[in-house]
Amino acid sequence: MLNAEKNINVNSAWPAGWQVDGKGFFLTGLLSLMAKRFNSDSVSVYEFDARNSMLKIKLRLAHSMIFESEENIFIGGIAKLEKAVVERRIFYCRDPGMHFLYVPLVMELDFPLLVVRLERACPKKKFSEPEIKDTESVIREATRDYYKAQFAAIKRKHSKNISIITELTEIFASSIRVRESFKRIIQGVQRYFGFDRVRLYLIDKQAQKLKGEVSVDIRGYVRSISFEEIPLKAGSHRFADIVLGKSSNSFLERYKDCVVYIPMAVQGEVIGLLIADNLLSQERIDDSELAMLKSFAGQIALAVDNVRLFDKVEELSLYDELTKLPLRRYFAIRFQEEFYRAERFKQPLALLWGDIDYFKEINDTYGHEIGDKVLKEVSRVILSSLRKIDFPCRHGGDEILVLLPQASGEDAKKLARRLLAEMGEIKIAVPFSKTGELNISMSIGIAVFPEDASSMEQLLQKADDALYWVKSHGRNNVALYREIITAVDSD
Ligand code: GH3
Ligand code: MG
Repeated sequence: MLNAEKNINVNSAWPAGWQVDGKGFFLTGLLSLMAKRFNSDSVSVYEFDARNSMLKIKLRLAHSMIFESEENIFIGGIAKLEKAVVERRIFYCRDPGMHFLYVPLVMELDFPLLVVRLERACPKKKFSEPEIKDTESVIREATRDYYKAQFAAIKRKHSKNISIITELTEIFASSIRVRESFKRIIQGVQRYFGFDRVRLYLIDKQAQKLKGEVSVDIRGYVRSISFEEIPLKAGSHRFADIVLGKSSNSFLERYKDCVVYIPMAVQGEVIGLLIADNLLSQERIDDSELAMLKSFAGQIALAVDNVRLFDKVEELSLYDELTKLPLRRYFAIRFQEEFYRAERFKQPLALLWGDIDYFKEINDTYGHEIGDKVLKEVSRVILSSLRKIDFPCRHGGDEILVLLPQASGEDAKKLARRLLAEMGEIKIAVPFSKTGELNISMSIGIAVFPEDASSMEQLLQKADDALYWVKSHGRNNVALYREIITAVDSD
């Protein structure tokens, strides 16, 4: 009966869409199930071609193997069978050598009508009435399970999308403070969309360039890509063309299915380019992901622009918005003045360098808002403990410097210990911790002019060395540079 049979890759027997959503696999499984359950020599699936009154074979299972075959059955001459197929009823036919049972298989409405045919060679028993009834219910149940699984997959995808929206929105909304935000933005995009890599480029209007900012690789590592500079001239580079709108689709472009370019525009002005790719895994970026990215492009652009704006404002100010501590630029001026005074009047000048312990972990565990609260509280403790002539600064991140004019190493150490004691008293409520509160501590290194250093650079360097020593000897402590060199000598 079969004209040709060859062992095939099961997937290739089905229309492209069927491979993706698993219908091909479902039918293959169904054939095996039917063959076993109804003790059939072979089971086939046909597609009904109404125009030509033809049953066209799709898949055939025989001898535990799946075959693609080229058998078409013209049913125009078998009026009863054609009528049954059209009316989606079971049809049982007994040829001299075989029993054939045709059972309709109804999938989606827009899909062709399929018919499953079970075959038994004659010496075996014919299909009994209960068996015939059973074939229909087996198919119905299997189809129902299949759709249930499909529905669950859609639901999973949908709820994943909702959580992406909530979490990314949170990141974007809070991304107005530090430059650190760029890192969080691209990490967020990578994590929630599951890209191999994400890169961020920003337009430098003055220099007429597209400049690399940060990239995150497949392991989640973030690196600066400031060495990448692309002239903003049409034709100079693919990226330039995209942001200049000279490319075929300036809003969102997909390249070879695995790369997506997202030009970022704020109020109609393009400010940069986000590039996400799956080039390593070669996983296709599908249409639903593209649609999501499209709807996020505006928010990402706004978040990035906020960070840029904040940077500009911060450049003009002397104080840190969050901690109210003076910023580095201001500190640099005061440091020069104090150092000059100390040299001239032969007075000591102590420099204290503090760094909050495990701050990253606090951020990662409880979120950046709690991290910010910690920074605020630590700064409050410092500001309230200093003399009028002392001068603190937020050196960046969780690092704080304090200049202590006319203070000896011992004076500085006493102050540092008091600071640590007060930081230990800070109470910030957090959920899911044993005590319900955070433990905050700091490591502090101290160097003193003129004993430890003869220049400003040296003084900074020695205080940093002392801090590093505390970090590598248990944290939550204070060390004078002088003490660590003795300790290192005796190590
Ligand atoms: P260590 O004890 O060795 O200092 O470990 P650590 O986790 O504190 O490490 P590190 O000092 O390198 O971490 C600094 C972290 O501070 C990393 C960064 O995410 C976070 N950070 C920097 N600026 C801010 C900010 O303004 N707010 C918040 N919440 N976090 C910030
Ligand atoms: Mg730290």
